[in-house]
Amino acid sequence: MASSLGGMFDSLSFGDSFDLESRKWKAPGGFHSHRERSLRPFIFMNAVGRHRDLDTMLHESGHAFHSMLCHDEPLLHYRRPPKEFAEVASMAMELFAFPYLDEFYDEVEAARAKRQRLEYVATLLPKIAALDAFQHWIYAYPSHNRAERDACWVRLNDRFGAAVSWQGLERYRQLSWQSSGHLYSVPFYMIEYGIAQLGALQLWLQFKQDRARAMENGDSLRW
Ligand SMILES: [Zn+2]
Repeated sequence: MASSLGGMFDSLSFGDSFDLESRKWKAPGGFHSHRERSLRPFIFMNAVGRHRDLDTMLHESGHAFHSMLCHDEPLLHYRRPPKEFAEVASMAMELFAFPYLDEFYDEVEAARAKRQRLEYVATLLPKIAALDAFQHWIYAYPSHNRAERDACWVRLNDRFGAAVSWQGLERYRQLSWQSSGHLYSVPFYMIEYGIAQLGALQLWLQFKQDRARAMENGDSLRW
């Protein structure tokens, strides 16, 4: 499978699989969508030339590879991974790209990109824990008022957040949970990123020891 990822990516370069560049009035965000009729993935994002764009492209490419490897499943439901698995291939792709970052960056920039990714992973897991606990509290106590909600989030931020001084910014700390759009659009989905991140880290450990085996195990993520 390893040698085929480049081929799969190249096959997306033709036709209408990419809408990548940011432009006026374009909706924000980035996502991958699998089209059942054409069986061709579609990747949407808003690239403006930042490192984060590369991360997004790697992530969405992982989703695209995952869906392309599921094309031959005869049952439609088997072509989509269960939710807690949906982000494993995409998050693994972010880490599998480490040895190849020199395609884009010099040595110093590549090292910085790797460090940023690993710092992101290290802070993502406690952030997800806080956001998941917060959502459970919100839905368990639907009659709560704003002050109680603020207090709940600050309590969880104390428990899971980094040792950061919020002095003078307390109001923003109370509202910082709103930086996650998932709480509005896909309630309770956030925990799936945590489960998937652990799976991606396991694949990455394998990848560091034996790339071929990790890629084969990635292939078996289909089901
Ligand atoms: Zn994703």
